[in-house]
Amino acid sequence: METSFIRETVVFKIAYFFSVSLLIFCGISSGSPPKDPFWDLREKMVTHQIIARGIKDLRVIEAMRKVPRHLFVPEDMRGSAYDDRPLPIGEGQTISQPYIVAFMTEALHVSPGDTVLEIGTGSGYQAAVLAEIAKEVYTIEIRPRLGERARERLNGMGYGNIAVKIGDGYKGWPEKMPFNAIIVTCAPQEIPKPLVDQLAEGGRMIIPVGERGGVQELVLVRKEKGMIRQEAVMKVLFVPMVTDEGITAR
Ligand code: SAH
Repeated sequence: METSFIRETVVFKIAYFFSVSLLIFCGISSGSPPKDPFWDLREKMVTHQIIARGIKDLRVIEAMRKVPRHLFVPEDMRGSAYDDRPLPIGEGQTISQPYIVAFMTEALHVSPGDTVLEIGTGSGYQAAVLAEIAKEVYTIEIRPRLGERARERLNGMGYGNIAVKIGDGYKGWPEKMPFNAIIVTCAPQEIPKPLVDQLAEGGRMIIPVGERGGVQELVLVRKEKGMIRQEAVMKVLFVPMVTDEGITAR
């Protein structure tokens, strides 16, 4: 009697232990996901810097809401990741201000079936925003260390539709042409002809153009029935486009 009571108690305790553990386990695994500590800052950025300034494309707004910008800046700058300004990303380069990323993405009218080319991968943030909307994103970075870091970061985050190439983006990526949209995030002194050639019919390109050291004109280029149309849309300040040697301006 006594032995069987003890045995039952032990069995009960074991069963109790497992059911409590299971509850705790289920509670953790099926409850709400751990809250992104930057979620609030990102929401504020979208409300005050993106929507309030006139960005209307819902796909762009959703992408800006989703991509964790703090993971694209150096660790000691994470607290400033959602500020209304560009930030240094190493090697004298910068990640663009959130509004500029949204403005350029909206100007390209990217749709879900589109193939997009980016020149100037930098941190990979702009590529990630594009990849939330487009089918495929091809991005070229001339500084090997920045390009490799961006590639690792984007792979680690699960972006399977972005390909990063290390090289001179002036020449574009002829093997993957034509592109429905091209975005250039470094400034050449004139629009590179290879990029215009690699635009698809009906394609759009957004590109800052200007003398080294000066303010540039953000130009929207459209290819319609083989004709090229250009429209200056805003004054901007981007890092210069450099050549393979990484020193000479174009
Ligand atoms: N789009 C980036 C920011 C770009 S900063 C982001 O979201 O973080 C501009 C980048 O253009 C720099 O990383 C710079 O190294 C790169 N760059 C400059 N000249 C280039 C060229 N000829 N081809 C490709 N990348 C170039």
